[in-house]
Amino acid sequence: MDGHDLLDALRGTTEFESAGDSPQQTASVSRRSPDTIPPDLSGCVTHVTAGNRKMPVLKAMSTTACERNCYYCPFRAGRSAMKRQSFSPDDMAQGFMALYRAGAVEGLFLSSGVIRGGVTSQDTIIDTGAILREQYGFQGYIHLKIMPGAERDQIQAAMRLADRVSVNLEAPNANRLQAIAPVKQFDDELLTRLMWINELRRDSDGRLNASSTTEFVVGPAGEPDVEILSTTDFLYQQAGLARAYYSAFRPVLDTPLENVMATDPTRQLRLYQASFLLRDYGFGLEELPFVDDGNLPLHTDPKRAWAEEHLVHTPLELNTASRRELMRVPGIGAKSAARILRARRANTLRTGSDLRQAGLTNVNRITPYVLLDGRRPNQQPRLF
Ligand code: SF4
Repeated sequence: MDGHDLLDALRGTTEFESAGDSPQQTASVSRRSPDTIPPDLSGCVTHVTAGNRKMPVLKAMSTTACERNCYYCPFRAGRSAMKRQSFSPDDMAQGFMALYRAGAVEGLFLSSGVIRGGVTSQDTIIDTGAILREQYGFQGYIHLKIMPGAERDQIQAAMRLADRVSVNLEAPNANRLQAIAPVKQFDDELLTRLMWINELRRDSDGRLNASSTTEFVVGPAGEPDVEILSTTDFLYQQAGLARAYYSAFRPVLDTPLENVMATDPTRQLRLYQASFLLRDYGFGLEELPFVDDGNLPLHTDPKRAWAEEHLVHTPLELNTASRRELMRVPGIGAKSAARILRARRANTLRTGSDLRQAGLTNVNRITPYVLLDGRRPNQQPRLF
């Protein structure tokens, strides 16, 4: 199989899987060899940050056939509109390597439908990874999906081959999953696998370093944000999760949920913002600004909503605040906090100009929530 064949077969099938830094975006890729690479890789490629650059990663499936019937899924059994494609491990590895050698992609994300059980499907995924590593000597990025019900030994084998592995929970708990994927078992098939990944990583003395991710389908089970973020928070703390993906539900024709309304994509954005507050900014779940129905407000980002409630009337003194406190101010992330700490070691910060000189670019976003040497800084008027 060459790169053309693989891309033609995959096109339009992997847009549903989240894998890269910006999971909802797929991209065309620059090409070193116009003669050998099709002009448009859209839908088959995502980007993953490696060091300080982004690398193109092929999103592929060993098979788009599936014996299961998850209500939201375009690959569900019996759905005639979905073209079914299956690749042997040899064909997938060969097609990927053709694209890699041509400079079109630098890594692989490999998922699959379930055929003859999760264990058999997992074997196909592992075999593909093994061929790439052992036969072709590929040393680049590999992300392997862990199938529902995969065995512990298989997960260990996948982690030996991959930089990242993932188990999609799809819903935040067993009841919600039952409503959209009645054949999947939340605890036995999915959550235990995420916990095993963490155990294997922790007990390996540094030999298994594959990070782990999960994905939630947002909306169709009627779950509020607080349930999704509660499970996310648990996974960050107890399962060593690297990141959670949130996929706003879109109805798919010829599925049981085809008449259910699509989820507002803004909800997906707010979930990402909140999950980064939990993971990177030291927020606790109970501090997130849920409203009465258990959802985050859609009209503003959760960090700003928290600051409006907590910092507008009791602003933070930037000359004495801790790094953790600084990062709670809208407009201040890890880099800006470091710049403030460095600048105030040299001089007391007194004005917005002092902040700009320290390297902060969005001072007007910060000023409503802070004090500089005991005084509220002036907002700089907009020119237009
Ligand atoms: S098991 Fe996976 S591929 Fe199969 S129907 Fe469910 S979500 Fe879709």
